[in-house]
Amino acid sequence: MVSRVIPVDDFDLVIFGGTGDLARRKILPGLYRRFLSGQMPEASRIIGAARSDMDSAAWRASIRDAIKEFAGANVQDKASIDGFLERLHYVPVDATGKAGWKELKGLMRKDVVSAFYFSVAPSLFGAIAERLKTHGIAGNASRIVVEKPFGRDLETAKDLNATLAEYFDETQIYRIDHYLGKETVQNLMAVRFANILFEPLWNAQYIDHVQITVAETVGVGGRGAYYDKSGAMRDMVQNHLMQLLCLTAMEPPSHFEPDSVRDEKLKVIRALDPVPSDDIVRGQYREGLDGPSYLEDSENPDSRTESFIAMKVKVSNWRWNGVPFYLRTGKRMKARMSEIVISFKEPPHNIFTEADHPRCNILTIRLQPDEGIDLRMTIKEPGPGGMRFVEVPMDMTFADALGAAAADVPDAYERLIMDVIRGNQTLFMRGDEVEAAWAWTDPLIADWTNKGDRPVSYDAGTAGPEDALILMHRDGRRWREISA
Ligand code: NAP
Repeated sequence: MVSRVIPVDDFDLVIFGGTGDLARRKILPGLYRRFLSGQMPEASRIIGAARSDMDSAAWRASIRDAIKEFAGANVQDKASIDGFLERLHYVPVDATGKAGWKELKGLMRKDVVSAFYFSVAPSLFGAIAERLKTHGIAGNASRIVVEKPFGRDLETAKDLNATLAEYFDETQIYRIDHYLGKETVQNLMAVRFANILFEPLWNAQYIDHVQITVAETVGVGGRGAYYDKSGAMRDMVQNHLMQLLCLTAMEPPSHFEPDSVRDEKLKVIRALDPVPSDDIVRGQYREGLDGPSYLEDSENPDSRTESFIAMKVKVSNWRWNGVPFYLRTGKRMKARMSEIVISFKEPPHNIFTEADHPRCNILTIRLQPDEGIDLRMTIKEPGPGGMRFVEVPMDMTFADALGAAAADVPDAYERLIMDVIRGNQTLFMRGDEVEAAWAWTDPLIADWTNKGDRPVSYDAGTAGPEDALILMHRDGRRWREISA
């Protein structure tokens, strides 16, 4: 199978924060891979902007190092890297001052797509948006890309939306959640809406429950002070897990286009019930053999911020009546694993009276590691001895099923940046979605904050606190094993 690469229109992409961690680790290596795939038009340009005083040659040298470190061992051809670096320019710009804006304007071309990636702290978004407009650098067709965190509660998210709306129309704003750029997440929509098989069963009549897990092995070391003001709920649930929940639970949109998809996601968020405190487990990792405790990492011995959260969520609508969605995410866990698990009900009547009981069908959408989709079926164990059952996987790990084409699959960031250039907002969050997610999240955070609740401790390298296991056990269900 040959992967199809459709070139995008000629563009100028400005990366504010071009010297920062995200630009070096994700954005520029990703753009380099798109360049290698032939997707970038010959004249397209990438302009780095940050306060650091350097020229384009120095920025290119630093991006060469970043490509070496982060783009992958199989794409280190010197001539290709040189070709890519020729498209890079750098302008020292102070987001909050006067320096650099005239020079930036002088570099921008007319009549090509212009996009501005705000890879800087959210406190700078307003200043940059204002200057882009007042200096006449961005026009009505320009696009801006903003990174998470998009606010830390409903009020700050509303403020941020209002600030950006002063200068840009909603159709120009691309709020990035890189989970939406993952191949499997889009495949979730393909599985649901491009096959007749699942959608008739995708409801409370046939689905017992859904589990969404995002487990990380790393702790918060290095950014402990930042994380301590956030926690797993704000950092992961309000955005990434919420988006996965929406795509799993939403009604079929009328078209695969931005507002049709985002309207349906918004309806899911608005249908979420408040979660009683009994259905939430918050945890903090203890000191382990290979690392310090959360309290040491955060350098706050009295921190009540959670590095783990598990919760049982209800989507209050006709389709999902009585179907719990169990969400769980945490740091310093047993393995790095992200997946959505759809657990179907048992067949209504067991005709095999003398036999083993058939197992429930389980559909797993794996985001990492080994992106893929797996459906567990019950079949008869081969050989004599009557009807004994065995559970077998129908496994579609992309790397196995699609061979070389899977190896060329773009990483989430590169795919999403190309969507920005194409002007396709389908995989980006709309302002009202973000606000609705905070409106659901805020009272839950306020509840445990007001009560002064402390998270329970859990051992690093495990599946999280015992209480999270009990959250499922008391419903007669079990979490899936966390494994790499
Ligand atoms: P970072 O490493 O601290 O980089 C910040 C960038 O902003 C630097 O290039 C810095 O360059 C520039 N900057 C700071 N003040 C400026 C000013 N007044 N004018 C112009 N440029 C200025 O941060 P990061 O990790 O790349 O994160 C950037 C954004 O992405 C943040 O909003 C973060 O929350 C978000 N994000 C990051 C990651 C990640 O993996 N790193 C993941 C998800 C989201 P100078 O010092 O040279 O000005």
